[in-house]
Amino acid sequence: MRVLVAGGGGFIGSHLVDRFLDRGDTVVAIDSFVTGRRQNLDHVDVGDRFELVEHDITLELPDLGRFDAVLNFASPASPDDFATMPIQILDTGSIGNRRLLDLATACGARFLLASTSEVYGDPQVHPQSENYVGSVDPVGPRSCYDEAKRFAEAMTVAYGNHRGTDVAIARIFNTYGERMAPFDGRVVNTFIVQALAGLPLTVHGDGTQTRSFCHVSDLVEGLVALLDSDCRGPVNVGEPTEVAVTAFAEMVIDVTGSSSSVTYMPLPDQRGGDPQRRCPDIGLARSVLGWEPRVRLVDGLTATVAHFQGVEQLG
Ligand code: UDP
Repeated sequence: MRVLVAGGGGFIGSHLVDRFLDRGDTVVAIDSFVTGRRQNLDHVDVGDRFELVEHDITLELPDLGRFDAVLNFASPASPDDFATMPIQILDTGSIGNRRLLDLATACGARFLLASTSEVYGDPQVHPQSENYVGSVDPVGPRSCYDEAKRFAEAMTVAYGNHRGTDVAIARIFNTYGERMAPFDGRVVNTFIVQALAGLPLTVHGDGTQTRSFCHVSDLVEGLVALLDSDCRGPVNVGEPTEVAVTAFAEMVIDVTGSSSSVTYMPLPDQRGGDPQRRCPDIGLARSVLGWEPRVRLVDGLTATVAHFQGVEQLG
């Protein structure tokens, strides 16, 4: 296959690039490098089967040739980004996603949208299954991302229904692993950096809020299974084991062997928006894709910590 990975310089995008190249596909990665990082693709040889194009998908796309698959993984995705670049995020989920849908439609390619558990907002239903319509505040602190992805889902479904595009939607829950940007503010990387530096781990709020963390290697297998299927989705792709943020901080301290303590600080945005519980129901992914995560959190964390120690500039 000839595959376009938009956001190929990002954390998840770069792992997808690796996966497609490993199985013999030809890959074009496109990235604006607003939050993606060139170093995520440094190990990939540019050549017959890989091309890297620096471009912002909200702008008219250059001629990239024909594709069998187009994957949209291009968007800032950390809550810190929601505060600093809301308009870019909204443009990426609307204008940018539509440009990629047009490209996929013109090529007759399968299109895969990276959507998010954020479409469920601060969920009132646990665990979240795909038929839960969510609880999003359209003017809340996370609205730029949540609504951009909700709009992107709506546009993707509209292309599927009205333009005949072969579309798929993955709702990705919290993912961690090698190549996370160490300073983008997300909890896994932030805690690892703090623990390795012997600094206190900064738990926001009372630390009872939960997340479920999926290792990127598992996530990529789920995404490829969805791409290779004829399922439209949306399909939740994530780890179904819930962990409270305080317990997670303690786990990071254990895995790193750090002498760090845990410190509590107010939630960054007093207007709310930080979901209290988040956990996917992955029944659909299990039955339709035959997929479920395999990597235990402690093992994935150990690999991630080793990566951070070996590769990232943490000083
Ligand atoms: N969090 C925290 N300390 C940090 C960073 C994040 O306690 O230094 C909390 C955050 O408030 C949220 C959870 O960890 O409740 C997950 O945050 P993250 O930014 O990774 O992603 P989210 O799932 O909120 O989009």
